[in-house]
Amino acid sequence: MAPSYKAVVDKARQAYREGRTRSVEFRRQQLNQLRKMYVENEQMFLDALKADLRKPHLEAVIFETDFMLKDLDFILSRLDEWVKKQEVSSIVPEDKSFIYHDPYGVVLVMGAWNYPAQLTLIPAAGAMAAGNTVVMKPSEVSPATAKVIETLVPKYLDNDCYPVVCGGIPETTELLKERFDYIFYTGSTGVGKIVREAANKYLTPTTLELGGKSPCYIDDTADMDIAVRRILWGKMFNLGQTCIAPDYILCNKGVEGKFVQKAQEVLKEWYGDNPEQSPDLCRIVAERHVDRLVGYLDNGKVAVGGKYNKDDKWIEPTILTDVNPESKIMQDEIFGPILPILNVSNHTDVINFVNDREKPLSMYLFSTKDKDVEDILQNVSSGGVTVNDTLHHAANHNLPFGGVGHSGMGAYHGDYTFDTFTHKKSVLVRGYGKAPEQILQNRYPPYNQDKLKV
Ligand code: NAD
Repeated sequence: MAPSYKAVVDKARQAYREGRTRSVEFRRQQLNQLRKMYVENEQMFLDALKADLRKPHLEAVIFETDFMLKDLDFILSRLDEWVKKQEVSSIVPEDKSFIYHDPYGVVLVMGAWNYPAQLTLIPAAGAMAAGNTVVMKPSEVSPATAKVIETLVPKYLDNDCYPVVCGGIPETTELLKERFDYIFYTGSTGVGKIVREAANKYLTPTTLELGGKSPCYIDDTADMDIAVRRILWGKMFNLGQTCIAPDYILCNKGVEGKFVQKAQEVLKEWYGDNPEQSPDLCRIVAERHVDRLVGYLDNGKVAVGGKYNKDDKWIEPTILTDVNPESKIMQDEIFGPILPILNVSNHTDVINFVNDREKPLSMYLFSTKDKDVEDILQNVSSGGVTVNDTLHHAANHNLPFGGVGHSGMGAYHGDYTFDTFTHKKSVLVRGYGKAPEQILQNRYPPYNQDKLKV
């Protein structure tokens, strides 16, 4: 039976109530400790990422260890500015109006396994910066990285304020019975709904960073040599296990032929004749996901790839053509290195195709027809978009990162992370000078029609 987490959450709440995380000095000191944890243990993280997903060194550094370090440095550089109360103009002279950035209290951060270090630690750092206490729950599906977080965090951070809880569905179910003041969840849409239901009990605000099917449109004005590389990079990074990976391609038959031909060349150039031997490709995280992915291989004609090895948790980079829009692969988020191509005639078809489905987390548009691109941007809702590349809108911390509809709610990255974890408290301060009484005298009874005229 899963343990109760009442004591852990009570301790974090007690620490919050005592005001331990309120001072900026404390926050800065703890964030610097987190930074130290990253720097002193980079290799431990890299080894764990290799054990969990066989992440290539470069991918692990760019999207995990370096990413976390850069994010933390950004937080530290912005902290003093963020915490300041912000003065805004007032309606009544002599008044003063402010926005205070209040922490929520006890925050629960639940991470996903595909980028298992950063998806737990980056939101946690943001919640710490905002003055909350934080319960971290890394994913049990990436056990080696979860163990590193569980081992290191108590050594570097305050144990009462920033506890780590590990475990799977029974543990998460127990944990969600506790009362939190904010829940930040990264994972599937299905579990996102479970998290929301648990949060509803206490009207706890939530950020849900979910998934979905991110479409990728290529028209015949795209530079195919470049487009194919950019799309395959975004798809094969982490062996397709990226929430914003291009999920499927929409293009006409002519573009499809060129794409398939070029993709064959590029995949061979990158991964050789036997991509299973390439050191630059991850593995699928768990056997059940390999089985799920193998089940998609007959949902179309295999134009490229198609091999798999269950013992090695391996699926070859694969492109499918002649895919029925109603087939299973077009119902689920693929989350693996299989790229189906569906045919459309023009950008209007793209608008209709995407709008007929749940709102995607990302969308990718490869075209130099600015008018068509703008038309799609104006008429399709998605969490984010990169035009003529993939994934990169998520790497610019000046852009909020998050989904919409079934792909999520709320956003973070950069300044938006601090916003997410703070309540903006409106404060109006009035004195006893003449202006308010003169200007607002008509509010007092007895009411009469004349008082409405001013
Ligand atoms: P998941 O939702 O299946 O599991 C996440 C965690 O929820 C698990 O680790 C488990 O502890 C818990 N959980 C699972 N089933 C539960 C249940 N029935 N009751 C209570 N808790 C339960 O997600 P996942 O497989 O870890 O991640 C894959 C999904 O995450 C994909 O859809 C992907 O697109 C999405 N994702 C989104 C982002 C983003 O930033 N938007 C980033 C990474 C992954």
